[in-house]
Amino acid sequence: MNQITHPPVVQLRFDDTAAAFAHKSDGQLRKSHLLFQMMNNPALVNAGARIAEWAFRLHLPVIWLVKNTIYQQFCGGETISEVKQVIQALGRHRIKTILDYGVEAKASEEDFERTANHLQQTLEVAREDSFIHIVSMKLSGLFRFALLEKVSRMDALNDAETAEWQRGIDRVDRICGAAAASGISIHVDAEHSWIQGAVDRIAWIMSERYNREQPTIINAVQMYRKDRQAFLEASLEHAQQHGYLCAVKLVRGAYMEKERARAAAMSYPDPIHATLEDTHRAYNRALEFCLSHLGDMYVCNASHNEASCRLMAELMQRYHIPNDHPLTATAQLYGMSDNISYVMARAGYNVEKYLPYGPVREVIPYLIRRTRENTSAGGQMSRELGLLHRELLRRKEK
Ligand SMILES: Cc1cc2nc3c(=O)[nH]c(=O)nc-3n(C[C@H](O)[C@H](O)[C@H](O)COP(=O)(O)OP(=O)(O)OC[C@H]3O[C@@H](n4cnc5c(N)ncnc54)[C@H](O)[C@@H]3O)c2cc1C
Repeated sequence: MNQITHPPVVQLRFDDTAAAFAHKSDGQLRKSHLLFQMMNNPALVNAGARIAEWAFRLHLPVIWLVKNTIYQQFCGGETISEVKQVIQALGRHRIKTILDYGVEAKASEEDFERTANHLQQTLEVAREDSFIHIVSMKLSGLFRFALLEKVSRMDALNDAETAEWQRGIDRVDRICGAAAASGISIHVDAEHSWIQGAVDRIAWIMSERYNREQPTIINAVQMYRKDRQAFLEASLEHAQQHGYLCAVKLVRGAYMEKERARAAAMSYPDPIHATLEDTHRAYNRALEFCLSHLGDMYVCNASHNEASCRLMAELMQRYHIPNDHPLTATAQLYGMSDNISYVMARAGYNVEKYLPYGPVREVIPYLIRRTRENTSAGGQMSRELGLLHRELLRRKEK
């Protein structure tokens, strides 16, 4: 429980590929290396994504191919029983799972109900498995997108829309209440800025109900947005005024291109920081803000950025926060940045892997988005490739 039992921060070595990939056999390592080599080529990624979309539309038998390559790298399995093996394997290395039913935005009331039922089933599984303590939730899978947009614009709702909004709130409340009763937390994912106002409003309502003692509702804050430091401070103030824990998941943000394109097309100021350096600065400042208010706040540092993860460790040391403090965590996506996850888990930090699961066909849009985002974010794929390459060489020279 105590920092003295863990190695000091200076020993956090993110280039320790032996520790990062100890869980992978030589064959698995070679397979991941080949996959990242292909994904490191943006032209190939774009062509592959188009071919996959086309093949699925024509019902061509590509599921096997996808499942044994990209899906296996980034997802846990199609069913809960498949995913359980992955969760156990992560758990053996002190890594917990954030379970995500990886189905993207939906449009009808039946779809929303189905997603809500899936989330409740996922909570049931989480209740029985001590390695899952968070389930992630996308509100665009539980509400009509246009309604979230309207609420975010603060337009008046008509009677039908008010009833629809209330049905959605009841659906979310059912999920959050069940999570609180089982001691599971919910990550409320951050989405496009034009629906985020509604997402934040729902997250605050649920936090006020369920974060009295535990960080049940954890709201994602995208630090690539210029206005998010002010939002973070307002979130803390709201929580303090209403007597609940302000729990946040810090992310840089996944929709930069879309955000910029929409702002340009509709002639409003770009909501995103002008440069990557500005985003890094904002993110790191937010991390320090949260850690310096720990107790009133819970923070999950959801990032693949080594400098931010190292900064988290340094700040925790500076503020005398034990490595495994229950109000802190760091999270990475399953199949990526194992050098951060496994090294930090070994050093005693609370580490989580975001693990999507679900039918291959349903998860394809998630996989395509993730691959494109990472290629466009510049560098993540080559970072992964470099680490895998180094580990392959190290094992050959052994
Ligand atoms: C566990 C987990 C959960 C996540 N949940 C969410 C979520 O709920 N919502 C969400 O939106 N994203 C989410 N993400 C994705 C996240 O927002 C980032 O897209 C991704 O993690 C890459 O950022 P990074 O911190 O890992 O580091 P880096 O790779 O160092 O940073 C890349 C990021 O910097 C920003 N950036 C890049 N270029 C520029 C530029 N020119 N100007 C300004 N900013 C720039 C972008 O946000 C880009 O994604 C999640 C990521 C993880 C690991």
